[in-house]
Amino acid sequence: MRCESKTRAGTRCKAMALRTGKRCNFHADPERHRALAAAGGRRRSIYRAENLKHFAPATSAAELAAVVGQTLCDVRNGSLDAKTGNAVGALASCLLSVIKVDSLETRMAAVEKFIKEERNREPRRAH
Ligand SMILES: [Zn+2]
Repeated sequence: MRCESKTRAGTRCKAMALRTGKRCNFHADPERHRALAAAGGRRRSIYRAENLKHFAPATSAAELAAVVGQTLCDVRNGSLDAKTGNAVGALASCLLSVIKVDSLETRMAAVEKFIKEERNREPRRAH
């Protein structure tokens, strides 16, 4: 049997009624439903910035690894919600790409400088 309550939109509730009554689990006890929904919202949003370990902005892959490793632990032990953990992961991925390019540019500049200095040191001999 279907629940006989109406939804907020005014249509009939499509959930199955409990065996013990004419209403579904949520409509049979709206107060309990509200309490469960609020608890779910709290659980998902529990995260206090002051409870998380502070890191200076990462400038190397090693520093970034420390932040990502700590975030992984925070999500696993429930001190950080998965959504925020996901955002940290995505941003860490972007930052890692930037760090890689920056590292490559720095190394290329050093190689180019070395080559230029080598060329200037020994002038080419004419045949
Ligand atoms: Zn219902």
